[in-house]
Amino acid sequence: MKKTILLLGSGELGKEFVIAAQRLGQTVIAVDSYDNAPAMQVADAREVINMLDGNALDSLVEKYNPDYIVPEIEAIRTERFYEYEKQGYTVIPSAKAANYTMNRKSIRDLATKDLGLKTATYRYATSAQELQLAVKEIGIPCVVKPLMSSSGKGQSTIKTPDDIEKAWYYSQEGSRGDVAEVIVEGFVNFNYEITLLTVTQRDGKTLFCPPIGHRQERGDYQESWQPAAMLPEHLKTAQEMADKVTAALGGAGIWGVEFFIADDGVYFSELSPRPHDTGMVTLANTQNFNEFELHLRAVLGLPIAEITQERIGASAVILAREHSENPSFSGIENIASEEKSDFRLFGKPTSRPYRRMGVVVTYDYLDGDVPKVIERAKEIAGRVSVD
Ligand code: AMP
Repeated sequence: MKKTILLLGSGELGKEFVIAAQRLGQTVIAVDSYDNAPAMQVADAREVINMLDGNALDSLVEKYNPDYIVPEIEAIRTERFYEYEKQGYTVIPSAKAANYTMNRKSIRDLATKDLGLKTATYRYATSAQELQLAVKEIGIPCVVKPLMSSSGKGQSTIKTPDDIEKAWYYSQEGSRGDVAEVIVEGFVNFNYEITLLTVTQRDGKTLFCPPIGHRQERGDYQESWQPAAMLPEHLKTAQEMADKVTAALGGAGIWGVEFFIADDGVYFSELSPRPHDTGMVTLANTQNFNEFELHLRAVLGLPIAEITQERIGASAVILAREHSENPSFSGIENIASEEKSDFRLFGKPTSRPYRRMGVVVTYDYLDGDVPKVIERAKEIAGRVSVD
């Protein structure tokens, strides 16, 4: 039961995953493009490489011969994962999952064409001219996103024809990698959006966490809460969709499956084959296992009997205001005395505007009021500043 885990990506989600792994006595090598990243601070070993460099990845796999390769971010030369699987390595959840989800085109075509899931209408475009045509077909308003990007980078909403050209150039600035293509999606006038954390097991049934609601700004989540109030039939539809898409991608682990809930039903948006940032709400012990513990158990092939909701909870992010080479927090003593709340400071070595530096979680008994818990998380996080 002492396994070696090569963790590709060492952010705050990785850090909590490493802590869960350390509690069960595992060995973790934390990798990122810069030194002293959050997960490195708690791992057994660290490596600093460019994970988009396939040769650099190959060398690490050879050096450590890991039992599990666990991606924590998207920006990895995931094509190499297929090769690792052929060589007998286990990629979490699977090479296909990591590779498909890093490109919006692969995952969207799989969801819509192969699996028949309901999604926003969409077209692709590879130039400003093609974007004009695509927008004509989809209609305004619509949303333009680079095929490869995360955290809302390069994403914008077209509200008038004048926005089209701007949206193209903006998408090109925010695009990652060598792909210039964008997806144009019809604007879904949703009532709310959720993340459905879904756990696929090596030898067990697929389990679902209670749905998590969240609010986005600038393409990043600001608050999340659990459970999100939703109609039982919408939840059931979302679970069926999550089951289908995770089964098609294969492997064991936790997945953050994102949905829009509109008047005309449930839309699949996208998914990440790893713990999800909105799932940090589970750090409030809202469940019998938090999302990192669930991921670890699924990775190690330990059976998970059930996922139960133990409390209601919310999370609110602590963002940096400016660039700093030596960021420091103020207001922590003040918020520490708050009842039914907790916080994490990620230990990121530097800050820049809007960089997520910490998170506040709040909770209450199961019969408590979710909006009040969200309000408290927001208010408490607002009292911390990072300079
Ligand atoms: P994404 O990076 O695709 O998760 O998009 C980030 C956020 O933008 C989502 O969580 C939604 O709040 C919003 N968004 C993305 N696509 C659409 C869409 N087609 N219609 C309406 N809102 C969207």
